Amino acid sequence: MRTSKDYINLEAQYGAHNYHPLPVVLSHGKGVFVWDVEGKCYFDFLSAYSAVNQGHCHPRIVKALQEQSTKLTLTSRAFHNDQLGVFERYVSQTFGYDKLLPMNTGAEAVETAIKIARKWGYEKKKVAHGKAKIVVCDQNFHGRTTTIISFSSDPVASEGYAPYTEGFISVPYNNIDELSKVFSSDPNIVGFLVEPIQGEAGVVVPDSDYLDQVHRLCKQHNILWMADEIQTGIARTGHLLATCGDCTCIERHCEATPQFRPDIVILGKALGAGVFPVSAVLANDDVMDVITPGTHGSTFGGNPIASVVAIEALKVVKEEKLALKADHLGRFFREALENYAENSNILSKVRGKGLLNAIVINDTPDSDTAWQICMAFADKGLLAKPTHGNIIRFAPPLVITQEQLQQCIEIIITVLSEFE
Ligand code: PLP
Repeated sequence: MRTSKDYINLEAQYGAHNYHPLPVVLSHGKGVFVWDVEGKCYFDFLSAYSAVNQGHCHPRIVKALQEQSTKLTLTSRAFHNDQLGVFERYVSQTFGYDKLLPMNTGAEAVETAIKIARKWGYEKKKVAHGKAKIVVCDQNFHGRTTTIISFSSDPVASEGYAPYTEGFISVPYNNIDELSKVFSSDPNIVGFLVEPIQGEAGVVVPDSDYLDQVHRLCKQHNILWMADEIQTGIARTGHLLATCGDCTCIERHCEATPQFRPDIVILGKALGAGVFPVSAVLANDDVMDVITPGTHGSTFGGNPIASVVAIEALKVVKEEKLALKADHLGRFFREALENYAENSNILSKVRGKGLLNAIVINDTPDSDTAWQICMAFADKGLLAKPTHGNIIRFAPPLVITQEQLQQCIEIIITVLSEFE
């Protein structure tokens, strides 16, 4: 029988070395748990970077995929299929937008949003051809395509891939004054692309009025507000969308009724529940109608399997009240770790929203302390991974119970105390 080491060696020999995973080889998953090939059980505290919000192999979502896969899997968009329109209506209505454009991965959806914003800029805002600019934030993470890494501030992501795509201006995150200055300085700005919480940067939560101010400034300058909710969306931060802000959608089971909304919402990851790659861009007609036949597309985007999986994924989120759970359990989790942090030398900060949280380890970003702590978590049955050196992100599936979360808190605190 093959061991974990055998599988790791296989990947090392035959796979490109573009990741540095924890040395754990998983073969099963159910709910909040995953099992390695030796049969050891772990709490999944990453959820495939928030793609598995509904828990591993959710029976309803897997059933939807299985049933559709015996009927029709792919038509391309050369023909209609009987699932796409149902999916488009369900998701558009859930989030309160006129229309949806389906893609597959997060990066593709971000690319789609960039194309829509540029085209809108030329056709509606009347920017001179070739001059459109999009403002992004320092420390952003929006994916890995050539255009997207062109505006990344992470040299590891961008170095060696020049020449870069032009037309992007980067501003500090969570800084309204700087944003306002840049917006005023250039009439060719067509969009502002922003994560409501910067996930990869280490779960950086902006000031509570930041998104409100972003909305106000974008309206004032006729600039499209483009929210990348790929990691923060689908109930992860305690609301159906993080840009719902402090609206009352939790009590209303997260039917989107926020007071202010982005012009473009970008979804991915948990829209497919970790079962199937599904991403999408949402916008109202006055923006989406710049897309006409032939101007954008994807062979797999909006395929029948993706369509049924996404509908079921959202139904599970609503019916199992995962946004409400994320909100309550997130508060419980942060409170427990904040209490521990008060007398800790190793844990310097706890931050996050809903069940998207991070701890900052009191060591330099180039130290391997956070990695060693994650190895110790794994040893005790909890899987998490450092992001940006000394920061560890915690994002369990939202189906976790309070009792399970309490067990995880105990593992985390036990390990941290060993590193004091
Ligand atoms: N945008 C954000 C905020 C993300 O967190 C990610 C992935 O981590 C992406 C975009 C890219 O998504 P994908 O890896 O599916 O292309």
